[in-house]
Amino acid sequence: MQKLDLLISGGKVHQNGDFVDADVGAQNGKICAIFARGEPLPPAVKVIDARGMHVLPGLIDTHVHMREPGFTHKEDITSATQACAAGGVTLAVDMPNVKPSTNSYERTVEHKALAQTRAVVDFNHWIGPPADLSEVEKIAGEGVIGIKVFMMNDTKRSYPHMPELGILSYGHLYEIFQACKRADTICAVHPHNQELFQWIEQRYFWEKGLTAPKDYAQALRYGDSIVYDTAFAALFILARSSGVKLNLLHLNTYLGTRMAEWFYRDGVDLSCEMNPPHFFITMADVEKRGPYVLGSWTPPKDQEALWKVVQSERLPFPAFWGTDHAPHHIDEKEVGWKDMWKAHGGAP
Ligand SMILES: [Zn+2]
Repeated sequence: MQKLDLLISGGKVHQNGDFVDADVGAQNGKICAIFARGEPLPPAVKVIDARGMHVLPGLIDTHVHMREPGFTHKEDITSATQACAAGGVTLAVDMPNVKPSTNSYERTVEHKALAQTRAVVDFNHWIGPPADLSEVEKIAGEGVIGIKVFMMNDTKRSYPHMPELGILSYGHLYEIFQACKRADTICAVHPHNQELFQWIEQRYFWEKGLTAPKDYAQALRYGDSIVYDTAFAALFILARSSGVKLNLLHLNTYLGTRMAEWFYRDGVDLSCEMNPPHFFITMADVEKRGPYVLGSWTPPKDQEALWKVVQSERLPFPAFWGTDHAPHHIDEKEVGWKDMWKAHGGAP
C-alpha cells in the first residue's frame, strides 16, 4: 500500500449529513481516501489519533469581529485566528468596524496586508461602504467577499456600531446595493430600523428609567420585533429592485423567515445568516448574565421559527451560521448592568 502523508484515525467523520466511523487519509494536502472502520489502513508519515472526536472539513466563519487595528485591548488578529484554529475554523472573514474602519480601497489593501502577516488561518474581509461608491468595483477586484453595511449607529456608546459606518438612509443603502450589483459583489447587511428604535428606546424605556439588560433586549423586540421586521422588509424590497446579491445578517424573527422564503422564491438573490445565540439564549440568561450575553434576545416563538428552518429537510432559502464572534474588555461590559445601552454589544 502506498504510504500516506497523513492519516486521521479513530474518529467519527462527517459524511452526507451524518457522522460515521471512518478514517481519513491525505496526500499532498488533499483528502485522498476515506476508509470504513476496520478496513486495512496504509502506513502514514503522520497519524492523528481522533478517537472520541468528530472529524469535519475546515469550517468557514463568515462573521468574525477581530479588533485589529484600533481595539487590540479586546483581541488581535493573531489571537482571534488561533482561537479559530483551535475550534476547527480554517477560513475566517472579518468585519470592517476597526479603527481606522476598513471602508475604502486604500484601507482594503492595507488591511489585507496586515492580515497576511498576522493571521494563522485563511482569511477574507467584509469592507464597509466607501464614501466614493465608484470604488466598490476596485475593492471587489481585491478578492474580498463583499461589502458590509450596518443600518445602525449606537446611541449611548461609540462602539461597536460606529458613526462612520452606519448607513441610516434608504436612498444611500439603495445606491450601495446598485454599486454592489454593478461590481457583482455581495452586500451583507446588519438589519436595523434606527428611527424606530430611537423612538422606542426614548419613549418606552429611557423616559421610564428602564435601562437594564432585559430592557435593552425587550426594546429590540418591542411590538413583536418591529425594529427587525421593518428592516428585513425594506432590505428584501430594495434587494429585489436593485438585483443585488443580499446576505442578510442576523435573521432572527418568525416573520423574517417567512419573508425570506417568499422573496427567495420570487427570485431575490439572497442568503441569510443565522447566529447560534439566537437559537439558545433565553430571557432567564439575559437576567442572570446581563451584559455578558448578546444584547439581543430571541423570543421563544422566533427561536421556534429558526429551528424550523434549519431542521427542514430542504432549506426554504439559502441559510448558514456565522458566529458573530465579538469580544470586549470586561470594563466595557460591566457598565451594562446599570445601563445596557452603554455596554459594548456582542459576545465572544
Ligand atoms: Zn457582527
